Amino acid sequence: MEKTTLPKSVVLELTYQCNHKCKFCSCPWYARHVSYPMGQKLNLEQWKYVIDKLYDCGIDNISISGGECLLKDCLSDILLHIKDESWKRGKPSDIVLISNGLIMSMEYLQLFKYCNVHLSMSLPGIETFKWHTGIDNAEGVLYWFQEAQKLGMNTTVNVTVTKKNIHELFETLSLGLLNGASSVLINRFLPGGRGLEYMDEMLLDNEELNGMLNITEEVLTLSNRNGHTGTEIPLCAIQSPEKYKRLSYGTQCAAAKGFFVIDPAGQVRICNHSPRIVGNIFDDNIISDIAYWKTFAQRQYHPTMCQSCKSIKMCDCGCREVANILYGSPSEKDSSAL
Ligand code: SF4
Ligand code: SF4
Ligand code: SF4
Repeated sequence: MEKTTLPKSVVLELTYQCNHKCKFCSCPWYARHVSYPMGQKLNLEQWKYVIDKLYDCGIDNISISGGECLLKDCLSDILLHIKDESWKRGKPSDIVLISNGLIMSMEYLQLFKYCNVHLSMSLPGIETFKWHTGIDNAEGVLYWFQEAQKLGMNTTVNVTVTKKNIHELFETLSLGLLNGASSVLINRFLPGGRGLEYMDEMLLDNEELNGMLNITEEVLTLSNRNGHTGTEIPLCAIQSPEKYKRLSYGTQCAAAKGFFVIDPAGQVRICNHSPRIVGNIFDDNIISDIAYWKTFAQRQYHPTMCQSCKSIKMCDCGCREVANILYGSPSEKDSSAL
């Protein structure tokens, strides 16, 4: 079978479980109408094997997510193993860990500091936090930003922006930063997973999308910080691309080029947003659905409307996986494309 080159970064989804019920959640196993084949969850010894194999394959950066990764019983041992292996192999780097903060503790923060974890906590609004997540815990997340700052940790306030919370985006980002977060990550809501059920209530229109970028730039300028967008945006949907100095935005899909994902059972996907399994980390060749992998790795997916665009080398027309989820092919339009 044909061998493929893996990107240098990987996201490990440690558990299918979560203690939030976010309406915007794109985890494919929460999609009501699509059946995702959840496998047997890996135990500590299996995760250690996976991590060693990933380093053997040339991986440099590991991120941790879920579900909610703090619910994984052996999270501490997995982090300690990554720290030990990365140092042993001369590749020490921060581990990015994404959490909703609900069961955060001082013990976890101290472990994260020891293991060079960069903590990214989700804050999808203040007044609308409960509407988005099912849990009333904005204050709790802000508290843990304060405690992490006291320990000298760098953290990110991570906001999924929807039609429901854009009116309080300025306050949400400001409170995240004032309470100790050192940087900002904003993700426009992308349909997928459970989010497919709430699409009409949450999808940003073009004015709101540009409002999201403008508000974030304003907060970053006032606070003298920098931030990023996490989900790629079609370049022509941005009204004034040159005006963002503090906020960096992506216009090229990184799936299968910059990173890939391993699910709680060792199944491989091109991106956390993708419901499609393309391989298994325990197999010799790892990637079995080479055609789908190459579609992303070789950028064979531009919509017809982009074929003659002079920006095609630097723009992938937003999210190619959301195009597939919504319209049945990675070569369709993104939900935010004009
Ligand atoms: S978005 Fe994150 S915190 Fe929310 S339900 Fe999904 S996995 Fe849980
Ligand atoms: S490549 Fe497509 S989405 Fe990007 S700027 Fe050109 S036409 Fe717009
Ligand atoms: S498929 Fe590509 S554009 Fe979509 S979320 Fe994943 S990395 Fe971003």
